[in-house]
Amino acid sequence: MLRCSSFVKRSSSNAVVRSLITEASSGLGLGVGATGLPAGASSHALDLVASMPTPRFYSSLQVAPDVSSSSLVPLSSRRLRELPTTNAAYTYNHRLQHYRHFSTTNDDSLPPREAMHYDVVIVGGGPAGLSASIRLKQLSSQKGIDLSVCVLEKGSEVGSHILSGNVFDPKALEELLSHHNNCDDEAGKFINWREELLESQDSHATPVSEDAFLVLTESGGSYQIPNIFLPSQLHNHGNYIISLSKLTRYLGQMAESLGVEIYSGFAADEVLYHQNDGELASASGVRGVATKDVGIGKDGTPKDTFERGVEVLGRQTLFAEGARGSCSESVISTLQLRQSGNADVQHYGLGIKEVWEVPPEKFKAGFVQHTLGYPLQSSVFDKVYGGSFLYHQEPNLVLCGLVVGLDYENPYINPYLEFQRWKTHPAIKSHLDGGTCIQYGARVLNEGGYHSLPKLTFPGGMLLGCSAGFLNAVKIKGSHCAIQSGIIAAESVYESLASGEGAEEKTVATTGEVNAEEPLVEVTTYAENMEKSWVYDELKEVRNCHSAFSKWGVGAGVVYSGIAAHITKGKEPWTFPTPVGSNIDDAKTDSKATKPAENFQPIDYPAPDGILTFDLLTNLQRSGTYHEDDQPSHLRIKADVADVPKNISLQVYAAPESRFCPAGVYEYVDEKLVINAQNCIHCKCCSIKMPKEYINWTVPEGGGGPQYQVM
Ligand SMILES: Cc1cc2nc3c(=O)[nH]c(=O)nc-3n(C[C@H](O)[C@H](O)[C@H](O)COP(=O)(O)OP(=O)(O)OC[C@H]3O[C@@H](n4cnc5c(N)ncnc54)[C@H](O)[C@@H]3O)c2cc1C
Ligand code: SF4
Repeated sequence: MLRCSSFVKRSSSNAVVRSLITEASSGLGLGVGATGLPAGASSHALDLVASMPTPRFYSSLQVAPDVSSSSLVPLSSRRLRELPTTNAAYTYNHRLQHYRHFSTTNDDSLPPREAMHYDVVIVGGGPAGLSASIRLKQLSSQKGIDLSVCVLEKGSEVGSHILSGNVFDPKALEELLSHHNNCDDEAGKFINWREELLESQDSHATPVSEDAFLVLTESGGSYQIPNIFLPSQLHNHGNYIISLSKLTRYLGQMAESLGVEIYSGFAADEVLYHQNDGELASASGVRGVATKDVGIGKDGTPKDTFERGVEVLGRQTLFAEGARGSCSESVISTLQLRQSGNADVQHYGLGIKEVWEVPPEKFKAGFVQHTLGYPLQSSVFDKVYGGSFLYHQEPNLVLCGLVVGLDYENPYINPYLEFQRWKTHPAIKSHLDGGTCIQYGARVLNEGGYHSLPKLTFPGGMLLGCSAGFLNAVKIKGSHCAIQSGIIAAESVYESLASGEGAEEKTVATTGEVNAEEPLVEVTTYAENMEKSWVYDELKEVRNCHSAFSKWGVGAGVVYSGIAAHITKGKEPWTFPTPVGSNIDDAKTDSKATKPAENFQPIDYPAPDGILTFDLLTNLQRSGTYHEDDQPSHLRIKADVADVPKNISLQVYAAPESRFCPAGVYEYVDEKLVINAQNCIHCKCCSIKMPKEYINWTVPEGGGGPQYQVM
């Protein structure tokens, strides 16, 4: 029987992080180069920046139409089978069998893919996926029937693609780690969640000491809203300021020590559907996923290094890719989970963030500030949804960012430059003066809340965390919901796969392979248990707030949110908007919210000064982004809307993608779209906000993308 062993505590000091990245970089053929470091950068900043690969900035015309994922490819030169496994219950080779039966590829010229078999396959090594994997192994230890579990993570290491605020509500982590103490732990180690949280942050998980909510004016003024008038959801006492990227790395180590097989640098590219007649339209469930093929050149032809991807098959496949996950969106649309959940389309915000080191006299440990007003809203009737955050984390970090609701109408809005000018407001600048920016990044977050939750389960799998949409947009918090959904998913799945007569004999941990004849199970108890949990209560309470902003503007939106949180507590008998359910194609997506440019004037943004505000390419170096040059673009123009960039986006909307992408990936040269896919920081904004949603965001070679360390 697998036992819960004490996991080895590894220091995630900069040196270790650097060596991890260097190791990953060399394994993946990445270069580690010098960067343009701002004068006066501290040694901490130097450590961080020096460890990042230099991004490449180049332009190439990459307007390849969408092609089937089976003919395109990614990955590193490492293969899954070369990686060590930790689960002693069965050998890796045992699971490596040809399993074409489930393959969705129709290209017979390609060699067959090999397959790996697990009881549970988890796509995405973020807080949701890792919590699910940990809970599954805790239950394996406590109840005596082992389930084999693997996690696929597209970042070169766990945590490298995680970007968050982050003010962390620890209640779900506390629950997860409290279960740990019921494991049969040989070392008799008692886990205290506070100590673990602290250790994950190199001793710098900082308790929130002060909450401030400001309204900023364009003239440089600010008004503080007294805390007594703020919704309780905005009170942060009892929470901690952390780096979620670091916490995730820590959870990854814990999961591995429990026997979870984690494959970092391997992106799930294709969902393997159970199809009755070979047609996608007949898909009735999910059998697993496939990683991308390796070694295809930019022109689409196989290189000497070409290798097929691997099918990763599971009795249950848990999608935990975070907001706008590429496989999750495929499942939601193919299995019509919004229609069957009578849900609205999802809405998103784009969060852009920097981490600064500040001098001791500027640092206020535990200080939390949120703002509305400048620069996104200039009057109480302004309907642009969004606001800012600024947190002081020990030892001397200021984590700051701006979230812009992607349902904005004006195509001239440039979220990155809005963020830069936000920093020039005296109420923000005063926190950063004399400091050094050490990291930059961006990521979308869900804002649809309760209304936009699709059906959570389907035969063979389920949606977790932000893949499903569990984020409280009023609080800008989702990591606690992600962890809780992971816990509940694991408990529901374990109950389904490991109970009843003969359950142990059926596990892949025992047999070594998924039984193709076993009917796919839909674990509906997951959805039922989520509905009974505090996650649903929390999201229900604020379900109308975003709509109030969109309908009546920021002033009424704030008042409504206050009333909902203080008085009605979500029990108001009305609900808006009406869930769209089966009319999903008519729903107003964020892409459709953009209005023609003729209705607006171009916005004149101030030039960056290189001290407080930065040009985009300088900042992009601070994200550590790297992608293998010689690979097909992972940003593909959908074949049926191939004329949209030139005829609609440029002509009607004045090329909004050249402004909303926080990595400067899209530009028009002589009226032709140029896609600098190498610079992509995986925020997913373009897959949401593009006119007619003309971009299909697919995963690049695994390991490519940002290298976040303190995000
Ligand atoms: C700007 C910003 C500020 C925020 N502030 C806060 C805050 O203060 N407090 C808070 O609680 N929450 C905050 N959140 C929300 C929080 O970050 C998310 O709710 C949380 O990260 C969701 O966890 P997850 O595991 O569902 O997804 P993620 O954290 O997004 O993790 C998903 C993982 O899956 C991987 N992945 C994706 N696709 C694939 C694939 N196809 N194959 C393999 N791997 C894949 C990704 O690389 C990633 O590692 C914020 C978010 C943003 C963007
Ligand atoms: S290309 Fe798309 S996903 Fe990549 S950084 Fe730009 S907007 Fe984000």
